[in-house]
Amino acid sequence: MASMQPPSASSSPRFCNTGSFMRMPRMDDPTGMDFAVFGIPFDTGSSYRTGSRFGPSAIRHISSMIKPNNVIFEVNILNELTGGDFGDVNIVPGYIEPSYAAIAQFMQPLLDAGAVPLGLGGDHAVTLAELRAVAAKHGKVSLLHFDSHLDLNESVFGQPYNHGTPFRRALEEGLIDPATSIQLGMRGSLYDPDDFKIAADLGFKVLPAHIMREMGLPAVIEAIQQRVGDTKVFLTFDIDFVDPAYAPGTGTPEVGGFTSWEVLSMVRALKHLNYVGFDIVEVMPGIDQAELTAYLAANIGFEFLSILAFQKKNGLR
Ligand code: MN
Ligand code: MN
Repeated sequence: MASMQPPSASSSPRFCNTGSFMRMPRMDDPTGMDFAVFGIPFDTGSSYRTGSRFGPSAIRHISSMIKPNNVIFEVNILNELTGGDFGDVNIVPGYIEPSYAAIAQFMQPLLDAGAVPLGLGGDHAVTLAELRAVAAKHGKVSLLHFDSHLDLNESVFGQPYNHGTPFRRALEEGLIDPATSIQLGMRGSLYDPDDFKIAADLGFKVLPAHIMREMGLPAVIEAIQQRVGDTKVFLTFDIDFVDPAYAPGTGTPEVGGFTSWEVLSMVRALKHLNYVGFDIVEVMPGIDQAELTAYLAANIGFEFLSILAFQKKNGLR
């Protein structure tokens, strides 16, 4: 569908007609769409720095740099797939539960149409609402979670909903199956030294950053594939998985993370999983430098869409 291609930068400069992801068409009707990009500009769940409400617009802005051909996957994503940018959820600043309801309501028609959602956060609290919508459509799913934090707290500030609690709630609500879920990249100092044990007791598999380094990335990929298998999987990517040298614009950074190249390599190697949704969260443009963090997030989103295109081209979806 050539008409769905973004404008070429040879005729329309990249700083013109911005405002949507990769300057894709803005859409309202998901009928027949393979994917749906949308923003979740919510940061009321943040515990330290705030400002990820501006994440979606920053990611969209710099995403005008990305072209539709992915030479690694040998696909033009918009030749293989139909989709576009569905705008933002009208969240309710300061009010987490009404925002959760708005997120799930926004996603339902996208999911019902069969589109794979790609949500741009927002802080990580939003992923609970996304998982509610995804589970309502698909039933319990696997969670593939890249982050420097587990986000499995029982509560934060005595509250059940926060960017430190989404996966504890998702587990309690029966939205995810811990037996086929995996959390990767955890590192940094802790209040409770038993955090990893708590995760294991809840049934999750955790690969902290230092273990990933010992294993080497090919073994990490193998471990993910073994764990997730062919189950329906939601991939949630907290940008603080990446080292703050590569992704400084985030709310709760942890040193000793992964490089941009390692992240792209890992994501590309996971091209055979059965994805039912993606998100990229915790991008905070107010403290970003040179749009580094937003640009990496945009490129990770492009790789996610490239996987869908690769799968469709090769009859895998
Ligand atoms: Mn997180
Ligand atoms: Mn995090």
